[in-house]
Amino acid sequence: MSSKPRVAILGLGIMGGGMAGRLLGEKFPVAVYNRSRQRAEPLTAMGATVCATAREAVAGAEVVIAMLADDEASKSVWLGPDGGLAGAAAGTILIDSSTISPGWVRELAAAAALRGCELLDAPVTGSKPQAAGGQLLFLVGGSEAALECARPVLAVLGRGVVHLGPVGSGALMKLINNFVSGVQAVAIAEALALIERTNLDPATALSVLTDGAPGSPLVKLLSKRMTTRDFTPNFLLKLMAKDLKYAIDEASTRAVPLATAGAALQTMRKAIDAGLGEEDFSAVVELLRRSNQPAGHV
Ligand code: NAP
Repeated sequence: MSSKPRVAILGLGIMGGGMAGRLLGEKFPVAVYNRSRQRAEPLTAMGATVCATAREAVAGAEVVIAMLADDEASKSVWLGPDGGLAGAAAGTILIDSSTISPGWVRELAAAAALRGCELLDAPVTGSKPQAAGGQLLFLVGGSEAALECARPVLAVLGRGVVHLGPVGSGALMKLINNFVSGVQAVAIAEALALIERTNLDPATALSVLTDGAPGSPLVKLLSKRMTTRDFTPNFLLKLMAKDLKYAIDEASTRAVPLATAGAALQTMRKAIDAGLGEEDFSAVVELLRRSNQPAGHV
């Protein structure tokens, strides 16, 4: 594999668009496909080949990265006569970086094997700025050999790679990571909504939290966005709800009830019903700010 292999990116949302831009900026040959073509057009000026189907984008690529919303989106872009798998020559390295369920990852890997291709699941931590700036962390499942082939591409897109085990391991780890993140997001939203209904000075009260034990990098970031009411999407609330659901489903197969994730998901679903699903997930605080419901007693 050359040091700058031909790459196809399938899915040009917040993350995929940034990743494609990063590779083009580093002079990789990149073919792109997105369901809504208008989202792909701006990349033409940077040198991308915009394709009408995933099949067309994958044909001729040495490494393919899909970055799609969920299982349904991933299935619709990989499968079918115009799907990515249909265009993959034997030996092409296929990577799905979407946050998807381990069950679907294993199905996809089996379908890829029928075409003589290996699949890596390589979901990421990091958000919009890290995708555009080559600072993602890849959580990888799949063979060491396939990962070695993908490394020249992943090295440009990320600050590191954690190889977690066989296919599906990256997806599993990502769901565990995001269920903890989703719970933290709802917890800091509830804390802020409560603080705002007390006599506490919000800035002082928040500094106690963010400088203290609960002050994870995520809590620090989200509390700032919630305070300034900057909900420009880095990560859509509806996608965080999706991750919580996948995590709960996955844990239930191992008889671990993710009660905190369940509570966070319920709050996020109410926020989606209130019209906040297309906002950044920090916007969940708005639901709690609007709430007039008397609290239930435990
Ligand atoms: P996004 O901006 O909403 O983009 C979603 C992408 O999926 C778009 O390309 C969209 O195409 C495509 N898509 C959605 N439904 C589809 C369908 N039924 N058929 C075909 N394509 C479909 O989301 P994102 O933030 O880039 O996230 C992409 C993935 O990365 C998700 O799995 C997310 O959970 C994960 N992730 C996101 C972040 C983050 O901070 N944003 C961080 C880590 C991981 P259209 O443009 O046509 O709608």
